[in-house]
This record gives sequence, structure tokens and C-alpha cells, in this order.
Amino acid sequence: MRCPWCGHPDDRVVDSRAAEGGAAIRRRRECLRCGRRFTTFERAEQISLIVVKRDGSKEPFDRQKVAAGVAKAIKNRPVSDEQVEQLVERVEEKLRRKGPLVTTQEVGIEVLSLLRRLDDVAYLRFASVYKDFQELTDFERELGILLQKREAAAAAQRRPSRSTGARTNR
Ligand SMILES: [Zn+2]
Repeated sequence: MRCPWCGHPDDRVVDSRAAEGGAAIRRRRECLRCGRRFTTFERAEQISLIVVKRDGSKEPFDRQKVAAGVAKAIKNRPVSDEQVEQLVERVEEKLRRKGPLVTTQEVGIEVLSLLRRLDDVAYLRFASVYKDFQELTDFERELGILLQKREAAAAAQRRPSRSTGARTNR
């Protein structure tokens, strides 16, 4: 490790210990030329997650990008920043299990499946901004189910006497 003070390439390690809860090793080093000390951290290389776009091009998974898409979808909806953060974290976790290569559609599906549990409106908004997604049969099926659910709920509201009648029979 090159000395940050004088640029000399050789040093000796004077102390080595676990850091960051065991996720890293912290080493205290001493330059063999100037004698000054500096610290290095060793961490496991983050296994990369690559998103394959429709046109076949690839880019590293970008958490910020997903978060920005979700943030747009939850605007003025009762969803907290914390919930968004958790959602994005879970999406990334799920994708890493599938990785290292995932498609944009897979990213979209994971976001939608989690967003759907949070908020119906945000779910539909996300679907509409996520253009890559619109032709996807999985999405259309999902959307169909959601709309059916809503129609059924609306129909039930239009006939309140029937449903209360059914409940009192029990
Ligand atoms: Zn030095």
C-alpha cells in the first residue's frame, strides 16, 4: 500500500482488527520510509448487480433510480420515505438473489409487487411511468386483478344492504 504521506510503496502492518461489525478489517500501517502511520480498510467486494435493458444494453443496478421512480409514484400518497427506503432495499435483496443479471422487467415486477401492498394508487402510477413495463403480460395480468378487485369493492359499496344481510345471518 502506497504511503499517503510520502508515496513510498512499502509499509508494515502494526495493528489489524475487525471493524464495521466484522464486515471489514481495519489495518494500521506504518510507512517504512517516513515512519508515518495510516489506516486501510479491507472489505469483501460488492457483488455487482447488472440490469439488462430491453435493447440488450447493460448498466449497474442503481438504487437511486428505483427510489426516484417510487418517490414519483407515492407523491401525495400516505406512504412514508422510510417505507420507500425499505421497499427499495427489499427489491434489491430479491434481485441479488436472482442476479447477477436481471432484466428491467424483473426490476419493475419486484417494485410493483411490493408497491401493490403499500398503496393501490402508487402502484398504478408506478406502472404507468415504468414504460418498459407496459407491454408485459405479467403486468397486464396484475393490473387486471387489481381493477377487478376495485370493481368488486365498488359494487359491494353500491349494495350495502345485501352484504350486511349476509353477515347478520351468521
Ligand atoms: Zn511514508
